[in-house]
Amino acid sequence: MAFAQRNGTLCAEQLPLDELAQRFGTPCYVYSRAAIELAYASYSSALAGRDALICYSVKANPNLAVLALMTRLGAGFDIVSGGELARVLAAGGDPGKTLFSGVGKTEIEIEQALQAGVRCINLESEPELERVNALAGRLGRRAPVAFRVNPDVDGRTHPYISTGLRQNKFGVPHDDAERLYAKAAQLPNVEVRGIGCHIGSQLTGPAPFVEAAARVAALASRLEAAGIPIAHIDLGGGIGIHYQDEPPRPVAEFVAGALAALGARRTGLILDPGRSIIGNAGLLLTRVEYVKPGAAKNFLVVDAAMNDLLRPALYDAWHEVRAVREAPAGARPVTYDVVGPVCESGDFLARERPLVAGAGDLLAVMSAGAYGMSMSSNYNSRPRAAEVLVDGAQAHLIRARETIEDLFALERILP
Ligand SMILES: *Cc1c(COP(=O)(O)O)cnc(C)c1O
Repeated sequence: MAFAQRNGTLCAEQLPLDELAQRFGTPCYVYSRAAIELAYASYSSALAGRDALICYSVKANPNLAVLALMTRLGAGFDIVSGGELARVLAAGGDPGKTLFSGVGKTEIEIEQALQAGVRCINLESEPELERVNALAGRLGRRAPVAFRVNPDVDGRTHPYISTGLRQNKFGVPHDDAERLYAKAAQLPNVEVRGIGCHIGSQLTGPAPFVEAAARVAALASRLEAAGIPIAHIDLGGGIGIHYQDEPPRPVAEFVAGALAALGARRTGLILDPGRSIIGNAGLLLTRVEYVKPGAAKNFLVVDAAMNDLLRPALYDAWHEVRAVREAPAGARPVTYDVVGPVCESGDFLARERPLVAGAGDLLAVMSAGAYGMSMSSNYNSRPRAAEVLVDGAQAHLIRARETIEDLFALERILP
């Protein structure tokens, strides 16, 4: 267990979280190397012996240390911006194993990706196909491309993270895919490599994932029958993790279902998981500033806020909150809302939780490794939290806490 109670204190691997708080301050993201590697292994072992590539989705957590760890494990990357491409390169990642996804790639980003030699550009519209063809021509290259197809499958997840429905902005319509591939095959400066889909995030069961795989595989077979070879099928990411009471569905179940849906097609499978690699491998460590009893509610006002972890405010997401120190025997829990200091009523990390905690105590907001730090902001002029990666009995500061000076270093007062 990456995060477990030992001698009355919650630990990250071998290190007590109160020691980490003392050393690095709070709020602070804490990750477990072992947990990241274990999650990656659930994919690599489910795919062992196959011609398959795991492309870690950088937006889940783009810290260079995480990307370097992924590189060492043999992963490729799924990126959605020029900034993420630069991070992959800075971390020593292989552009030849990197997919460039996203609905709004700019000319500069496409040029950078072509010059870096990415494995594939995942196109999301016809104008993007034309733009990539033109830019590749100008650079004297052939751009490796795939279309992200919207399979019109309901991921049955939160509407903000559901992406595979007809009404979503992502991908090209399933019904239009054959026409677009025929067009791509005629263009001089693109080379069709594969096909992809990604139906959403935090999928709690394999059924929609497998259904999308089957639809995309059938489409790939029709394209091949029409003389357009499809070297890879990218089934996206989206496999859910344990936040609250979701039944833990092993990655192997999703992978087995997808492989079955691909049928005779045994080569060129790509998956791009993010959340399921790093989500449960991180927590947000925070300290209680005030206990504020109220007429209708009791509040624990902590030093982390929605700018550090946006998911509760944005998706009404549920994160487990644990006291770092075990409650003394006989202590009675009180029901609290755990809130930050930001001036928004939406600034909460958890609501209606029975906890034993007082001012100065430490809390751990669990399952915060994915879409935590990566969605953080400086709202209310709050410096971003430090990030620490624990490896056994070693703690590495992988991102220093921002300073107040950092906040306005790029700003200028009028002359
Ligand atoms: C965000 C994203 C992923 C990763 O999703 P997770 O839910 O974090 O696994 C994979 N592929 C694409 C195209 C994405 O946009």
